[in-house]
Amino acid sequence: MNFEDLSFDPRIQTALKNKGYVRPSPIQEQAIPPALEGRDILGCAQTGTGKTCAFAVPILDRLIKIPPRSTDKQKIRALILTPTRELALQILESLEDYGKLLPLRSGLVMGGVSEFNQVKMLQKGVDILVATPGRFIDLVWRGHADPSFLEIFVLDEADRMLDMGFLPDIKRIIEMIPSTNRQTLFFSATMPPEIKKLTDTLLTDPVNVAVAPVSSTVDKIAQSIYLTDKADKLDLLVWLLKNHDNKMSHVLVFTRTKHGADKLCIKLRKSGIRSAAIHGDKSQGARVSALNDFKDGSCRVLVATDIAARGLDIDDITHVVNFELPNEPETYVHRIGRTGRAGRDGTAISFCDIDEKKYLRDIERVIKKQVPVIEEHPFPMTVFVESKPKQKQSRPRRPFQPRQGGGGNSGNRPHNNQGNSGTRQ
Ligand code: ADP
Repeated sequence: MNFEDLSFDPRIQTALKNKGYVRPSPIQEQAIPPALEGRDILGCAQTGTGKTCAFAVPILDRLIKIPPRSTDKQKIRALILTPTRELALQILESLEDYGKLLPLRSGLVMGGVSEFNQVKMLQKGVDILVATPGRFIDLVWRGHADPSFLEIFVLDEADRMLDMGFLPDIKRIIEMIPSTNRQTLFFSATMPPEIKKLTDTLLTDPVNVAVAPVSSTVDKIAQSIYLTDKADKLDLLVWLLKNHDNKMSHVLVFTRTKHGADKLCIKLRKSGIRSAAIHGDKSQGARVSALNDFKDGSCRVLVATDIAARGLDIDDITHVVNFELPNEPETYVHRIGRTGRAGRDGTAISFCDIDEKKYLRDIERVIKKQVPVIEEHPFPMTVFVESKPKQKQSRPRRPFQPRQGGGGNSGNRPHNNQGNSGTRQ
């Protein structure tokens, strides 16, 4: 099937052609036709499968074909909720690309940046709003955003929203939008029970679409394990980068913590390797400039935490390195899925110390294969005894004191105070 076989606005067809898209990806092939008919969609798909295009095309087509329900230009017609700022930016970029030839306005509201311009943009009016949950709620409460005439609602990466503690925010937003006459497109890589419950309340007779179960997407990625010691991981990484200079040109390194990402980036730079770090504590400007440096090749290594890296739209990552193995196999699959995109080959390298061997076993169980171990390298594992779990410090008990009314929790806002940008990591 080609995009031309699907009946949507020719201007969107042209925009896709200009981007070099000919054939829809599996999720697009399954989701676009029923979504164009106005059906609700329950999509089980992870990042990199072409989800954004799968929901963007039906939104653009519908908004251009059907006249708005209100003449008030401040009423938002389509809302796309997504957990992180990076994803939000990428979705807006894609919408603008695909809708380039249409007279529709798209905008973005997200936390972590000044809201001044976001409020101005909403006052002028937008048809499609991409948003992270908390900032959207703030703006609705303060009367700057009005979803009361919403026609299409997209919930993207619902399981990540749950992981990041956004479920209460999502429930609040659902109460703000019309409950009838609304098309809902719902996407999640996994379906934990809370998410399943949410789909039951949100969707009406949805069409279920699912692509590539987690384990099969990783088949085309060459994976390997380096057994080593925690203390040698940096030297091992530097050795790998220096010995594979021309092959390892765009390397995404995952660390468990923000602090770890910064520390590693500084050490790599000291070893003469051009690196940048992105994580939730970096300003938006710093993240965008790190991403741009990585994309244009002026920086070779991007060190990232999981949440910051989610949804990164970079097609030519040659290598993903797990500096630490994640304790959730799914995170491993998400991480290595950042390479080998758009039909290219990809390589995923993982460092595993003795304490991480248990994570490796879980990962291999989920991906249903053994990851080959690279025997020949200068930093083999020498510590074979697991470190003892850290002892919890016992705190001295304080005598019970009844609470004095009122003090402490001054805010009466029911939602979290994070400024809400999906950066809680
Ligand atoms: P997701 O939202 O699942 O992460 P995107 O829609 O952003 O996926 O697509 C992932 C990458 O694949 C992007 O670089 C996008 O430009 C590209 N892409 C998406 N659909 C197609 C297609 N049908 N043909 C070629 N490239 C595509």
